[in-house]
Amino acid sequence: MRLMFAPNAVIGQHWVNLLSVAGIPCELHNRYLTGALGEIPAEQCAPELWLVDERDEAMARKLIAAALNGPPPGGKPWRCSQCGETLEPQFTVCWQCGTARNPLDE
Ligand SMILES: [Zn+2]
Repeated sequence: MRLMFAPNAVIGQHWVNLLSVAGIPCELHNRYLTGALGEIPAEQCAPELWLVDERDEAMARKLIAAALNGPPPGGKPWRCSQCGETLEPQFTVCWQCGTARNPLDE
């Protein structure tokens, strides 16, 4: 299944590495690779990140969201305001219930 577009091939490859390290099989596709459409805007050349197993989707999205946002300042573990789960600082969304981190929470 297609997970999302990558802004460019470098970032796309970075995501593939990230997910592979986490044990999530994935591939980078570029449907315009054949050039059959001729001249196309650069932004439409964005590679697509595909998951081999769609059951990995939630985890993959969390990993990529974390990669995009980077670790929060301070890098302290945080506690989910919804379910109380303690989460590592690199994650911006709760594993348990999917609640996004509130930067005001500690
Ligand atoms: Zn939670």
